[in-house]
Amino acid sequence: MPPSRKLKILFVTSEVVPFVKTGGLADVSAALPQTLTELGHEVRIVVPKYGAIDERRFKIHEVVRLKDLTLNIGDKDVVFSLRSSFLVGQKARVQIYFLDNYEYFGSRQGLYVDPNTGTDYPDNDERFILLARSIFELINKLGWIPDIIHGNDWQTGLIPAYLKTIYKDDPSVASVKSVFTVHNLAYQGFFPKDEFYKTGLPEELNSEKGIEIYGRLNFMKSGLMFSDAITTVSERYAEEITKDEELSAGLKSVLTKRKKDLYGIINGIDDKLWNPETDSLIPKKYSARTFDEKAENKKALTEKFELPYDENIPVIGCISRLVDAKGFDLIAAIIEDLMQMNLQMVLLGTGDRKYHTLFEDIHSKYPQKFSCYLGFDDELAHLIEAGSDMFLMPSRYEPCGLNQMYSLMYGTVPVVRETGGLADTVDKYNEKEETGNGFVFKKYDSPDLLREIKRAVKVFGERKAWTKIAKNGMKSDFSWMASAKKYVELYKKILIND
Ligand code: ADP
Repeated sequence: MPPSRKLKILFVTSEVVPFVKTGGLADVSAALPQTLTELGHEVRIVVPKYGAIDERRFKIHEVVRLKDLTLNIGDKDVVFSLRSSFLVGQKARVQIYFLDNYEYFGSRQGLYVDPNTGTDYPDNDERFILLARSIFELINKLGWIPDIIHGNDWQTGLIPAYLKTIYKDDPSVASVKSVFTVHNLAYQGFFPKDEFYKTGLPEELNSEKGIEIYGRLNFMKSGLMFSDAITTVSERYAEEITKDEELSAGLKSVLTKRKKDLYGIINGIDDKLWNPETDSLIPKKYSARTFDEKAENKKALTEKFELPYDENIPVIGCISRLVDAKGFDLIAAIIEDLMQMNLQMVLLGTGDRKYHTLFEDIHSKYPQKFSCYLGFDDELAHLIEAGSDMFLMPSRYEPCGLNQMYSLMYGTVPVVRETGGLADTVDKYNEKEETGNGFVFKKYDSPDLLREIKRAVKVFGERKAWTKIAKNGMKSDFSWMASAKKYVELYKKILIND
């Protein structure tokens, strides 16, 4: 294949900013297609049109050829349409199709979990079977045949299985290759075995040799088994999930078998949105050269969170889903110790009730030291990144993680656990050599976390050293360009191997 050949890529995902987001996948799903487009490739995205997506604001319009299509899911005839709009970036415009079906998506405010009950929608299997199958209708009706179908996480896990079975002799898609990216192995899309008939896949896949594991259907396993290449979002996480029983979340044997087709490609960050020099959401723009001006943001941050401002007191920022896996069990164990130290903490997040209660209590008890906003607020996330001195991210596991990269770019020194993407992006500060861009602890336990925070707080007192660490971080290059090029190499590799 000529190295300059332009590829056609169909990128299938369950969330994309700015339309709808619950986590890092949404950021990736916008930035990667845009960067691939900047590189000259033709990318089209498919995402469900949930009730939370504002169709007027995003000018989502009808496509005559893609209107009122029908698919059979189990014993239901499901009518759906694919409507169209554009993902508009500064340099690239990417066509995006919205899978429109009122019952499965339009009538729901949540993406995967029903906000009224706090549990998964019981028909998530049908919803994401529809997503997986709809793309074959899209290809067929448009006559636009991609070279690569790039799916993401369990919601798209059936696509590679369809390609390798019911569509394998279909001339329009027989040569299409699939890439399946794991953003988080912890969510796998489990469904009862009895529901297999809904998938429309050949019966032999209704077994442990197929898409079943531990007696249940597993859409993630399907993606892992049948894709031509698997990627995950950091090299360290790629290694960990083939070695570590806990991190592989029950899929170690499946992953080990496919080890030679498993690649770690770190996510980039969208530097049009996350760049302290150009960020319009922060009160004072700054760069490594004007690092002192970061203090203006710290002032604004402490004001916003009603904490007293003192340049000599470190502010620790934290933006996260409030769940155990993000290290909140460790934080909970040491929060009282932290409150005895000379520091302030601001937290932005939503998640488990127990953490909402805990942090509300801590705020009432230490209003001068701890403040939080227990909700989702993008603008506030920018202010916290710009205004904090340190950023806390003690995850139990972290496939890639975005906030530590944002923090490095903003000269906000990360304190992280050595795992996954955190290990690949944060280098532990070495006092003697004055190298490193953050603070790192290894073992997942609270004394080690506390020790590393204490170390960070101590170094914060040594202004010269601290500024050096922060500036080391600001030199990082997390642009999507480097990562997008790795995806292109991989796409080409699997196309050549044909
Ligand atoms: P994950 O995808 O596991 O939640 P990541 O670090 O990869 O973790 O990505 C989280 C993304 O969501 C980041 O862009 C982060 O800023 C954002 N985010 C998380 N919680 C909030 C919140 N409460 N308000 C605003 N942004 C948030």
